[in-house]
Amino acid sequence: RKKIAVMTSGGDSPGMNAAVRAVVRTGIHYGCDVFAVYEGYEGLLKGGEYLRQMKWEDVRGWLSEGGTLIGTARCMEFRERWGRKQAAGNLISQGIDALIVCGGDGSLTGADLFRSEWPSLVEELVKDGKFTQEQVEPYQNLTIVGLVGSIDNDMAGTDSTIGAYSALERIIEMVDYIDETAKSHSRAFVVEVMGRHCGWLALMAGIATGADYIFIPERAVPHGKWQEELKEVCQRHRNKGRRNNTVIVAEGALDDQLNPVTADDVKNVLLDLGLDTKVTILGHVQRGGTAVAHDRWLATLQGVDSVKAVLEMTPQTPSPLIGILENKIIRMPLVESVKMTKSVATAIENKDFDKAISLRDTEFIE
Ligand code: ADP
Repeated sequence: RKKIAVMTSGGDSPGMNAAVRAVVRTGIHYGCDVFAVYEGYEGLLKGGEYLRQMKWEDVRGWLSEGGTLIGTARCMEFRERWGRKQAAGNLISQGIDALIVCGGDGSLTGADLFRSEWPSLVEELVKDGKFTQEQVEPYQNLTIVGLVGSIDNDMAGTDSTIGAYSALERIIEMVDYIDETAKSHSRAFVVEVMGRHCGWLALMAGIATGADYIFIPERAVPHGKWQEELKEVCQRHRNKGRRNNTVIVAEGALDDQLNPVTADDVKNVLLDLGLDTKVTILGHVQRGGTAVAHDRWLATLQGVDSVKAVLEMTPQTPSPLIGILENKIIRMPLVESVKMTKSVATAIENKDFDKAISLRDTEFIE
């Protein structure tokens, strides 16, 4: 019987439970034993009770649960070769040689590295006397399949990541609340939203709530000049009769000299314009709560396909990432997707903002 493990890693996102549920049930449907790795890579290093076989009913009701019920963690030891060797030993002890990882680009990079090192790790485990050659014979290759769980929607090559629409929904709900009180007092609000290197949440929230101005890392504002432009835009909207102003700032927002633009920077400019201005940093409410319909079906369809991918892969198949493109679930080489994602960050570092935007596909409005 094929043994598959599923784990969640890196930052949690709504819909991760739906993904785990789909993997568990699809795996069982195809006659596999499915294990959940608790606490991300930390659980892989600890082994034993952190690797639990899941039954059909163990994931009942998980569609409507936020966060990740099997836990997640950041694990420094998995970045070290000795840590990955220990993880390999724990998987072999349970007879597992396929791993479905739901996480961000960091987690998926780690997973692909783990796969490429696997044969040499196994060899070393035999040399160390942990296993005999006979014992490791059936486990010469590790299969890795990636699912992208991230509220930031920051993975290149896929239209949306599991959790992004839920976070977006939460943000616009909060901004709607803020707008009501802002209008009552004729105030301006600066709302900081998540998305380290990716402005998707800020941009989409800004469009969905009709914000006056949006700051994102990919479309860096002109150094020393944005202040006047911001004032001009907000004043223009006031002149048209608007009773409030809303400015959305991505936490990674920059000017074109790569200086951070913070919510407080923006607030000071609006105060200078004479507006009664408050800052709201939404923080972790953006991660919490149940997954919206989009994330539930995305996680379910992708979870199903991740198990199919495991069963169809050969040792020569590059590790796939399950994505969605124009409403179709697709597979693409995980490494390429991660590389493209990193090149957006590099383009920003090089102040090549046009390139950063073009690498974000058509989702971004120029
Ligand atoms: P995310 O997956 O959300 O991008 P991180 O970048 O924090 O989050 O990665 C989560 C975990 O994945 C890390 O704590 C570490 O255990 C593992 N990881 C990340 N990058 C690597 C890497 N280059 N090599 C090995 N493991 C990695």
